[in-house]
Amino acid sequence: MNGLKLPAHAVKPTHVIIGGIVFPWAAKAPYVASGHSVLGGLEYNEAEGLIKCHVCGCWTRSVGKHAAAADGVSPRDYRRDYGLRNTTSLCTPSTRARYRANVRISALLPEAKKHRFVKGPSLQNRKHATGKDAGLSAETRNLRMLCAAQIRVRVTNLAIAKGATPTHPDLKLAGIHPAVIKATYGLSLRDFMKSLGLTPNTVKSPRSGEPLPKNVGHYVRVAGQ
Ligand SMILES: [Zn+2]
Repeated sequence: MNGLKLPAHAVKPTHVIIGGIVFPWAAKAPYVASGHSVLGGLEYNEAEGLIKCHVCGCWTRSVGKHAAAADGVSPRDYRRDYGLRNTTSLCTPSTRARYRANVRISALLPEAKKHRFVKGPSLQNRKHATGKDAGLSAETRNLRMLCAAQIRVRVTNLAIAKGATPTHPDLKLAGIHPAVIKATYGLSLRDFMKSLGLTPNTVKSPRSGEPLPKNVGHYVRVAGQ
């Protein structure tokens, strides 16, 4: 059942599987490129029931089995290299469902072990996350729209919606913690905003004579009493 394999150009991704959930491809875009596919996700063509291999770009029902046999990459290394969680399934949902049904029928998988698959990443998995990721795997970042490509677009959209550079509270409200920005790009919030062509938010010192934002002015007055 895993014999079907098509070259990269033969199929286009329509969906992406992240954290075991199938999303329309555009729902989680943009992506960070990784190998022949995207970091922290499995590109998926739902109609064909095929997943794109990060290593060689071909389309297959189980990249785990395929990459081990054709590309010489073990499932463990595959997940690590392409930002996937250690527990992420490397085959299509239907292939996985068939596999799991077979396993249940043969009663090889104890009840407790079955439940392990539906849980989130363990602490150990988080430790395996790569790079400057503030402890999140690339896959988890994609789930939360916090990959390096998505954050830039989201902050830009926030700025457009607001008509000004987003502030700390704006970012937190949108679920983008400023610490994540720092960890992702290695930039201060100020430099990150500059990199997007946005004017950084500044708080002027009272001595400069510039008017302070209302709330800051309040604290300065209270402190000065
Ligand atoms: Zn391959």
